[in-house]
Amino acid sequence: MSKIFEKLYALFRMNILIFVLLAITVIALFAYQKGLDNVEQLNLADYPYVIPETDSADGGSSAVQLSRTDSSIIVDYELREGYAYPYVGVKIFLGDGKTRGRDLSKFDSIFVWVKPRGEGTVRLYMRGYDSTIYRPGDESSLKFNEIEFFPLEETYPAVFVPKEFRVASWWVAQNEVNVHRAHVDLSNIPLIEIQTGTNAPLGYGTLEIKGFCFKGKKIAKDKLTTALVAMWFVTFLIILIIRFFDYSRERTAAKKKREELEKNLRALEIEKSEFERSSKEDPLTGCLNRAGFSSILLREQENLAKNGSPVSFVIMDIDHFKQINDSFGHNVGDEVLVNLTKLIQGKIRNTDALVRWGGEEFVVLCGDTPIQNAQFLAEKLRMAIENTELIKQQKVTCSFGIAEMVAGEDPKRLFERADKALYSSKENGRNRVTSATLKRAH
Ligand code: GH3
Ligand code: MG
Ligand code: MG
Repeated sequence: MSKIFEKLYALFRMNILIFVLLAITVIALFAYQKGLDNVEQLNLADYPYVIPETDSADGGSSAVQLSRTDSSIIVDYELREGYAYPYVGVKIFLGDGKTRGRDLSKFDSIFVWVKPRGEGTVRLYMRGYDSTIYRPGDESSLKFNEIEFFPLEETYPAVFVPKEFRVASWWVAQNEVNVHRAHVDLSNIPLIEIQTGTNAPLGYGTLEIKGFCFKGKKIAKDKLTTALVAMWFVTFLIILIIRFFDYSRERTAAKKKREELEKNLRALEIEKSEFERSSKEDPLTGCLNRAGFSSILLREQENLAKNGSPVSFVIMDIDHFKQINDSFGHNVGDEVLVNLTKLIQGKIRNTDALVRWGGEEFVVLCGDTPIQNAQFLAEKLRMAIENTELIKQQKVTCSFGIAEMVAGEDPKRLFERADKALYSSKENGRNRVTSATLKRAH
């Protein structure tokens, strides 16, 4: 069970981070979509600083009367001629009404419950505090974030999004506001004003203000997006770092393993060549044994078949060797074998192969050599043996049999012919060379 878990863990080691992240992302987006609502009701009863206003400040003569119920403010008014654009309204002070107000910028929508009992538009001012513009004690320097609308029955309450507000251009001009500061800013609203609109007709009218509601999300969308992107980024960074370390660790391990294998391989190769050599060598004399001979025989057979290069087979046998053993001991016999090998090695070409055929019999396989030349070589060897003191105790001689290889014939026939020739040498008194008569197929 734990093995399965380990395997699964290994499989998901990297991906698990991604799965966790995916889950967090999905949950966050779902929560954002379905919840995390931030709703604030602006209850007018909580704001005692509600005062009426008229156009008298601008030289008008309109009149206004304010009355409050439990849930609303009633503004009764009469618009009269006097100011060019007669108006009345109401000011609702939030915070301290000057420099500290409400941050409404975090909300996505603003609900306004205003009902006119008459015709015409209604102006809504979200008066904003901006430290770079505000003149202490001068209320007119609070920014006029403005929206003017028809409060219709079917769109009650009226709903606005922040970007639908404009900053009144006359206010920008009057206050000589820098163009870079003249944008809508709802981050600090100490004062809300509701006024009769530009086209409100002269005469009596009533505005009923029930309140405001601000709706948004607890986390701003861009903050959520930034947080998620940052999380993904960090995760990928972590994965990259882990992968990098894994990779370099694996590489080091693989390198070590490869080096070890190469070392073993080299050792094996040395062992193999040593083994191959020793398996083809006669341990006493160091010359080739039968196994070593077979590969050379193959090579020469091919040479003959392909190039017609003649091959001669010289077999030699020490005369009365048994007697040497019997008289002087096996060690002396061995000495004869070793010394004889040395002698022959010194007299044959590099391309000739000396083979210990068995016991005290040797073979010289001569490539590129017709039987006449082999005969000459054998005679040379015979004389050299006869005239060399292989051991102190006794003269040693050898008998020779020679045969030439016939293309395509079974090597056994070649050996037989050479053996027969050797037998003849023995028969005829030893210490001599006999050539097999060559029976060519054509
Ligand atoms: P011939 O002239 O007819 O060849 O007589 P021979 O005594 O040489 O003939 P034979 O084949 O009967 O004797 C071969 C002897 O070689 C028999 C064996 O004891 C001896 N011999 C074979 N291998 C070795 C070896 O490795 N070392 C020694 N010292 N003697 C060996
Ligand atoms: Mg023999
Ligand atoms: Mg012998």
